[in-house]
Amino acid sequence: MDSWVLDHKKRHHRFFEEMTRIPHGSFHEKEYGDYLVRFAKERSFEYKRDAIGNVMIHKPPFPGYEDHPCLGLQAHMDMVWAKTENISHDFLKDPLKLYIDHGFLKARGTTLGADDGTGVAYILAVLDDPELKAPPIEAVFTVQEETGLGGALALKKEDIRFRRLISLDCGGGDSIYISSLAGLKGIAKRQFQWEKAQGQGYCVRISGLKGGYSDGYKREQANANKLGARLVYELGRALQYTGRKKVLPIMEGKALPS
Ligand SMILES: [Zn+2]
Repeated sequence: MDSWVLDHKKRHHRFFEEMTRIPHGSFHEKEYGDYLVRFAKERSFEYKRDAIGNVMIHKPPFPGYEDHPCLGLQAHMDMVWAKTENISHDFLKDPLKLYIDHGFLKARGTTLGADDGTGVAYILAVLDDPELKAPPIEAVFTVQEETGLGGALALKKEDIRFRRLISLDCGGGDSIYISSLAGLKGIAKRQFQWEKAQGQGYCVRISGLKGGYSDGYKREQANANKLGARLVYELGRALQYTGRKKVLPIMEGKALPS
């Protein structure tokens, strides 16, 4: 393994870079959870790992801070695994290949996992620092955040002591959030019947969009899912008008081989 890229004299740098060498995509957080458990054991911190894989670590208060209420610090272990098409990278076992580009830390050909690796690294730095004057700290590292907050939803309230929490998972280095991301889910159900396909099939590809994060909704950029849904909706309407008989003239797509 080549040498470290970050400055390991800084705790958060060291913990972040160590994290990039352990696979930790959503649903594959086991090995990183082992790392956290080891971290807690080495420092004789009380810890718990729940059934889904969340890890809670308790750091005792700094002397003189025993009467302060417990503070929760939370981050999620899992990262999004994505890579460019032209490289071979096995996220299940390969470490990320870090490099610095004009002062920015990047991973060669893959996502970096700064979301939420930075949050995890800062919390570990707080836990690791014996000189830090702090109240009792309860660190909560959750799993499966990127795929729908699975770990957070599975947290048991009896496993949580804190009544005040700082969640270290939000965007931008120049912002402070009073409350972090909220989740809202809806499930829509509709009965349908399959119909045998007839006529010419088309493959429609929506591409050339700018991309972006779901939270960046204010940017008014096009979203492939929404465009696809609108296309299907408009097609459905057009099909009704044509009695499902004609090949639609409104699509410019590539014909599938028959
Ligand atoms: Zn996140």
